Amino acid sequence: MDLGILVTNDDGIYAPGLWMLVEELQKVGQVIVVAPDREQSGIGTAVTLHQPLRVRPVKPLIPKIKAYSVEGTPADSVILALGMLAENKVNLIFSGINEGANLGDDVLLSGTVGAAFQGYFHKLPSIALSVASWENVHFDVAAKLGGLLASKIMAGSFPQGILLNINLPNLPVEKIEGIEFTRLGQRSYADLIKPGYDGKREYYWVVRGNPHWTIEQGTDIGAIETGKISITPLHSNLTGNYEASLREYLSSLPRELRLGGALA
Ligand code: MN
Repeated sequence: MDLGILVTNDDGIYAPGLWMLVEELQKVGQVIVVAPDREQSGIGTAVTLHQPLRVRPVKPLIPKIKAYSVEGTPADSVILALGMLAENKVNLIFSGINEGANLGDDVLLSGTVGAAFQGYFHKLPSIALSVASWENVHFDVAAKLGGLLASKIMAGSFPQGILLNINLPNLPVEKIEGIEFTRLGQRSYADLIKPGYDGKREYYWVVRGNPHWTIEQGTDIGAIETGKISITPLHSNLTGNYEASLREYLSSLPRELRLGGALA
């Protein structure tokens, strides 16, 4: 039986990275493309609940691939694909190939990773693929890696309850230093607010400043910085450390709310 592969992204349905990936994946399984009709980078895991979603069949850039554009988010695209558009069973979801890295704290804002999370919520093997550049992006290695992973997943079982967030340095294959299995690093941004005036009212643009990288070995950022491909397994459990100090800090709350008893 053919492997059913759903491909989506957050750069919009005609982004070149998506079609480079489809070209490789179609060798492995039956590909369907369902992706936002325009760029949705930074939309995270958002699902559209307050307006209707329009879906259009679109002309694929690779013959015979079924493709639909969605007037919504990457996560909306996955929901519509799995619930309605895919005629055959979907076994595997790819999101990308994104132009630009999704490293560290980016995973909470990334539409590329957000779409993969929607696949994860449906308990399907889900892979987010990004290349760490916005210019002259080398999609070929990422596409090939996608094809290899799809074959692997077809051949055997994929671990339950994780998704893979994969980032590649923007290098030709002969310059890539290897593959590292990583944890999330820290990359933060100063958000700049740029005011303007449209002739009637003031408006504000939130502009992402330059990222501040903490380069640490074993992290996704560390891997990319040293020219390696980073594979980070993610899950949705965001629970922080149960630190004794925090428990102590909150310990008076039951009394202050007149609930009696201690903080359990
Ligand atoms: Mn993007």
